[in-house]
Amino acid sequence: MEKVISGIRPTGNLHLGNYFGAVKSFIKMQDEYECMFFIADWHSLTTHPTPENIRRSVKTILSEYLACGIDPERAPIYIQSDVKPVLELYLYLNMNAYLGELERVTSFKEKARTQPDNINAGLLTYPTLMAADVLAHKADKVPVGKDQEQNMEMMRLFARRFNRIYNVEYFREPQSFHLSDHAVKVPGLDGSGKMGKSEGNAIYLCDDEATIKKKVMKAVTDSGPTQLNQVKPEPIQNLFTMLELVSAKETYDYFNDQYNNMTIRYGDLKKQLAADINAFCAPIRERIAAFQSDDDYLARVARQGAEKATASAEKTLGEVREIIGFRK
Ligand code: ADP
Repeated sequence: MEKVISGIRPTGNLHLGNYFGAVKSFIKMQDEYECMFFIADWHSLTTHPTPENIRRSVKTILSEYLACGIDPERAPIYIQSDVKPVLELYLYLNMNAYLGELERVTSFKEKARTQPDNINAGLLTYPTLMAADVLAHKADKVPVGKDQEQNMEMMRLFARRFNRIYNVEYFREPQSFHLSDHAVKVPGLDGSGKMGKSEGNAIYLCDDEATIKKKVMKAVTDSGPTQLNQVKPEPIQNLFTMLELVSAKETYDYFNDQYNNMTIRYGDLKKQLAADINAFCAPIRERIAAFQSDDDYLARVARQGAEKATASAEKTLGEVREIIGFRK
């Protein structure tokens, strides 16, 4: 079975965009691949979070992914900083990663622009750490958004370069599994294209019923269709896209027919959509709360994940040391 590894940045709560755009694919992948998921807390150090910040966001992410349905028995979840052999591979890869090529990576240039007072070496070597995370387990596939493609190319370059320098066929080149090819783009309800944290329009999986209702009732609409069967303008199409994701087909058809025959009342649609989003989120929200209050269970999941991932990385590192000329 092919191996899939995915790093999750601990950047706050999951929203519906993350769920339908990424997490849902992860859940499905558990049946089709040998999966491992890790929480990228080393990577998060590039922005200098406080210890309390790190602890809280790692716990949040772990609870939310479990609540969504990642099954740690089948797909270990581990915290990046628990798997030390990766650091050693990071060092080896850094010896053959060149300043010029690292400086040319778009995400580095962007970060350097957005945090000019903190252009640290960790930012520069973000792609080598990412490569170490994946190559340490000799994974075949990495689920990524389009923004990670250049990092994936660097990873393949480092793998090829290692093989060439030591004249071995050791590392395979991990392939990108483009999440956007397998998922819908979840729209924002404020008339903008995409739901996102930074867009400020996200509906979070942990939002309570009242919050969901407030966010949905605020959704941008227009004064209604003026012709039978007309094409929906973007803000209205966005509402229908959300209906398609969370509501029954009959509900979607009901409002779609009303739109087409110009009898639609957006207030009714929004109320139904809010109720359906809440019905979708409620069980996940309850599970998030349950996991959040079960520190023992979370610790056990992380420990078991760390054991499996460390064993896998240690095996690779033994072989890598020997190839390099060190003792196994
Ligand atoms: P945000 O845009 O809120 O900062 P992230 O960049 O952390 O979200 O997103 C992580 C992953 O979640 C992305 O790589 C993408 O696969 C998915 N994702 C985020 N927002 C959406 C969306 N609106 N529609 C579809 N997928 C999304």
